[in-house]
Amino acid sequence: MSPTPRIAIAGAGLGGLVCARVLQQHGVPVTVFERETDPHSRSQGGTLDIDEDTGQAALRAAGLFDPFLALSRPEGQEWRLYDRHANLIRHDRAGEGDLSRPEIDRGQLRTLLLDSLAPGTVRWGHSVEAVAPLPDGTACLHHHDGSAEDFDLVIGADGAWSRVRPALSDARPRYAGVTMVEARFDDVDHRHPGIARLVGRGTMSAKAGRRSLVMQRNSNGHVRVYVTFRGPQDWHAGLDLADTEAVRARLLAQYQGWHESLLDVLRDNEGGFIDRPMFVLPVPHSWQRVPGITLLGDAAHLMPPAGVGANLALLDGAELARAVIGHPTLDEALDAYESVMLPRALDNAKAAQQMLSTLMPDTDSDDAAFPDTLWPADSVPDSRPAHAG
Ligand SMILES: Cc1cc2nc3c(=O)[nH]c(=O)nc-3n(C[C@H](O)[C@H](O)[C@H](O)COP(=O)(O)OP(=O)(O)OC[C@H]3O[C@@H](n4cnc5c(N)ncnc54)[C@H](O)[C@@H]3O)c2cc1C
Repeated sequence: MSPTPRIAIAGAGLGGLVCARVLQQHGVPVTVFERETDPHSRSQGGTLDIDEDTGQAALRAAGLFDPFLALSRPEGQEWRLYDRHANLIRHDRAGEGDLSRPEIDRGQLRTLLLDSLAPGTVRWGHSVEAVAPLPDGTACLHHHDGSAEDFDLVIGADGAWSRVRPALSDARPRYAGVTMVEARFDDVDHRHPGIARLVGRGTMSAKAGRRSLVMQRNSNGHVRVYVTFRGPQDWHAGLDLADTEAVRARLLAQYQGWHESLLDVLRDNEGGFIDRPMFVLPVPHSWQRVPGITLLGDAAHLMPPAGVGANLALLDGAELARAVIGHPTLDEALDAYESVMLPRALDNAKAAQQMLSTLMPDTDSDDAAFPDTLWPADSVPDSRPAHAG
């Protein structure tokens, strides 16, 4: 590696932060520019399952595996699948000592990464507007206040709507045809025992045709709900999304015929509903290498949420940092990083796309609700009615 390269990371998400952490561990200075005004300006979202081969490998590389484990919830790997009549179709319990995909609140993981960085590494309230390659192989970063700064390497870790991506590719995220509407329950064990029973200690999905309800237990009795359905992005046409009762009525109409215990998920939630249309980048998404600029995580490979996006962002971040440390030039480092990251992203994006079309078919028939491919042939379905106990 050339002596003290000037490195900027756009975005203090999981991928950008782990990249900064690994660089700093090896004495490489780095600055992270983050649009949010401070670490607590926005709720960081729900729970993430961190996979052994990807997210956990990255946290090991960052020297943060043990503190991660201390915060994680291995019991959160439990998973229940219901039909729309609230019959329990499948129930996977987390095995004793199973650490293959423990859950952690996204906010806790982000705080762990932030606290591991040298003070002042993240410049909060600092939006990156654009990045342009320069003839000498460096890159010019345009800040939100109109100023500009040159770096030897700019890493776009700024998520779905990356401002760095246009320097490498013309691709734009497109609507995937599926929307998630987010809701929440607090103190679920005391205030909502029926919801607590449905979700158990981990995740539950209930599905039929092109609709599903997904709930995930977070720490401290919080539960996040994702009301997920295939349909137009303007499914809420004519509604004010801030009008919780109107949104609730529209959602209940969509889930007509579902069991009362499942409809309670839409009736009893706390707070409002947040519309989260699903966007994806084209598959494949690639680019001709540009000196001094690269991407990681969602900026490089935004795909349907199939439980891999955060894991890949973490792995990308750790691997990119290691490539920078381990190669004599940044050019060689980017060659090494992109030649592994891009094919891996392609494989995962194809699998996520396939999963989305299997789980959210373009049909409303219950027949399509539980395709055989969802679980191994030898798994024994559990058909106890969830609402019985
Ligand atoms: C509902 C839902 C559930 C999910 N569940 C899972 C799961 O269980 N497991 C899993 O692995 N993945 C999951 N994912 C996917 C995962 O959230 C993403 O893939 C992951 O967050 C990508 O990380 P990142 O660091 O690339 O980007 P992000 O987490 O999006 O971080 C990008 C950062 O860049 C900042 N930023 C944006 N623009 C700018 C700018 N112009 N200048 C400066 N900063 C900027 C943002 O504020 C943000 O802090 C889920 C996604 C959704 C939508």
